[in-house]
Amino acid sequence: MRDRSALEDAERIDLHTHTSWSDGTCTVAELLARAAEAGLGTIAVTDHDTVGCWGEIPAASAASGVSVVPGIEVSAEHQGLSVHVLALLVDPSPDTELAHEMARARRSRVERAQRMVELIGRDHPIAWKDVRAQAADGDTVIGRPHIADALVAHGVLPDRSAAFREILHPSGPYYVPYYAPSPATAVRAIREAGGVAIAAHPASGTRDAEVPASVLEDMIGAGLAGIEVDHREHDEPERRRLGEFARSQGLLVTGGSDYHGAGKPNRLGENLTQPDVLAAIIRRATSSTEVIRPWTWST
Ligand code: AMP
Ligand code: ZN
Ligand code: FE
Ligand code: FE
Repeated sequence: MRDRSALEDAERIDLHTHTSWSDGTCTVAELLARAAEAGLGTIAVTDHDTVGCWGEIPAASAASGVSVVPGIEVSAEHQGLSVHVLALLVDPSPDTELAHEMARARRSRVERAQRMVELIGRDHPIAWKDVRAQAADGDTVIGRPHIADALVAHGVLPDRSAAFREILHPSGPYYVPYYAPSPATAVRAIREAGGVAIAAHPASGTRDAEVPASVLEDMIGAGLAGIEVDHREHDEPERRRLGEFARSQGLLVTGGSDYHGAGKPNRLGENLTQPDVLAAIIRRATSSTEVIRPWTWST
């Protein structure tokens, strides 16, 4: 029989994490071992624009005892502003509109990263091979974090955050955008793939980089299910405002750590989602993708 603390752990749910298939620094197995250590019962694994890690989830869930909501953090774009949408319990097959949009975004990300490295390389000692060396082998989704890591490895800057502030910032001379669908298109594609769409950290960044209300309304019109209100990049007034907005629109309120391993200061479980919200997400999904439980895996 499970004891009381195990039951409490089972209720601790973190719906936003990354692995080394995108810009996190942990493998799936490491991430889930850390989630168990952090006392989490369930996490969503949400790499940027890829389901690459999903195949590793069942074994890692069984080894760690942690349940996993398979997910993606889909990149979207509105007038140059990057808008992220969590896609939970989607169909991972390669012939959905969502899969096509993500494949296009991944290709564009590589070209964009190569162009950024070319521009940065004029002023600082880094080349594409240095950036590639910072990403895990295989079909990793390359992003600014890998460029940041190469800059840190070459002693140009002390850490990722400094690189984002000083060299990789969108308003700086080295920034190059990449293709991403509109936020409403992303939400529609997630819904068509049977998934549940949650606006990720819509008020993160500076005021002028916040997702405008009109864009959130377009996303709601396209079938948005919820808003990630509890995220470290939202302060208390933003959480209150977004929470009230979500309630007024009948949207779910989620929370997540946006854990990136050593790549960011975020701690697993620092923001949580209520169990009844996860239950509503599971009811809302229409694909055959299910939450992966530790006890369902067999070789
Ligand atoms: P990209 O999608 O390539 O433009 O890079 C953006 C990604 O970098 C986001 O997923 C963030 O999680 C990550 N990121 C943004 N700001 C920082 C930061 N200050 N330090 C570390 N990672 C960051
Ligand atoms: Zn990231
Ligand atoms: Fe994000
Ligand atoms: Fe994220």
